[in-house]
Amino acid sequence: MNTHQHLDRSVVIERVAAQIPRHTLAHYPTPLMRANRLTESLGNTELWFKRDDLISFGLGGNKIRGLEVMLAEALALNADCLVTGAGVQSNHVRATAATAAHAGLRCTAVYWGKPPAAMDGNYRLTSMLNAQFHFTGDDDRASVDTHIHRVAAKLREQGHRPYEIPRGGACAMGVLGHVLAVFELYQQCLSQGVEPDAIILAVGSGGTYAGWLLGIRLLNLPWKMLCYTVSREPEQVSLQVADLATQAAALLKLDWTFCAEDAPVFGGFIGQGYGIPSLEAAEAIKQIGRSEGILLDPVYTGKAMAGFLYGLQNKQFEQHKKIIFVHTGGEPAFFAGNGDWLNSSPTETVKLS
Ligand SMILES: *Cc1c(COP(=O)(O)O)cnc(C)c1O
Repeated sequence: MNTHQHLDRSVVIERVAAQIPRHTLAHYPTPLMRANRLTESLGNTELWFKRDDLISFGLGGNKIRGLEVMLAEALALNADCLVTGAGVQSNHVRATAATAAHAGLRCTAVYWGKPPAAMDGNYRLTSMLNAQFHFTGDDDRASVDTHIHRVAAKLREQGHRPYEIPRGGACAMGVLGHVLAVFELYQQCLSQGVEPDAIILAVGSGGTYAGWLLGIRLLNLPWKMLCYTVSREPEQVSLQVADLATQAAALLKLDWTFCAEDAPVFGGFIGQGYGIPSLEAAEAIKQIGRSEGILLDPVYTGKAMAGFLYGLQNKQFEQHKKIIFVHTGGEPAFFAGNGDWLNSSPTETVKLS
């Protein structure tokens, strides 16, 4: 890297950041930590963690970054409530409920299906945060999309000023929050003297990945994205991510188009489905926990790590020397359900005699 490039990049960062409204909810930057013991066991690859799980607000996670931008817009529009949705164990909905509480807004959470018997994990937190619930009664996850509009329309009829946030927080405004994450990591890498060549990310609804793509293109960084889908098929995700990145670029008044080829995604590590822990994820979670004391989650980061470890074993990443895994959060999932998925291979118990 040369000084001119750094100067050019800091100009871009300043110009673009000034275009992005943000109501900051946490302390930044989040830590960038070298995985010492893991790196030792991986051979030629140095692994680092970007700890967005430690975002210091509402139990953290990547969703806070998107919400900081959406909240700024919601407040500018004089909204009095946030309406969003997903499944009951959604990190995004919990983060939205915390955001609304902080700003003194109401929050309505639209969930697919029917109310579950157990009030645990993120669902319990979202309830405690005083979000109002609306269940679609339909097990199709997409039912949330139409119901968010319906709930918002009803609230408007009642004289409220709702701000709608699409399912999972995947919208162009939210994407801009993740562009700021790229700027943050770039500056942090500079000050810590880290030169990564690849970034690993778990992908759900795609807003986060879209922000990373746009941020990397804005700064012209030599960072390759290694992304693992945890819900939809890779082709579908790539299209969605490209579309979101294009829309977000337009918000920055850039006539840039992203296409599916710009947003490659690895498949094959979803297991039985979104939100269902896989054996590989459980193993990856144990390996990282036991070597680093870092807790990945079973829905997103555990599956991405399983995919990455598999790729390493199969020599897919020989060209990469320094890789940063973005830990996007999700730990409340440890406190949902009975945790049987973690006990697939119990550790030895201590014998005292
Ligand atoms: C939502 C989420 C992701 C993925 O973010 P998207 O923008 O939906 O792709 C990754 N990790 C965790 C823990 C999440 O909650």
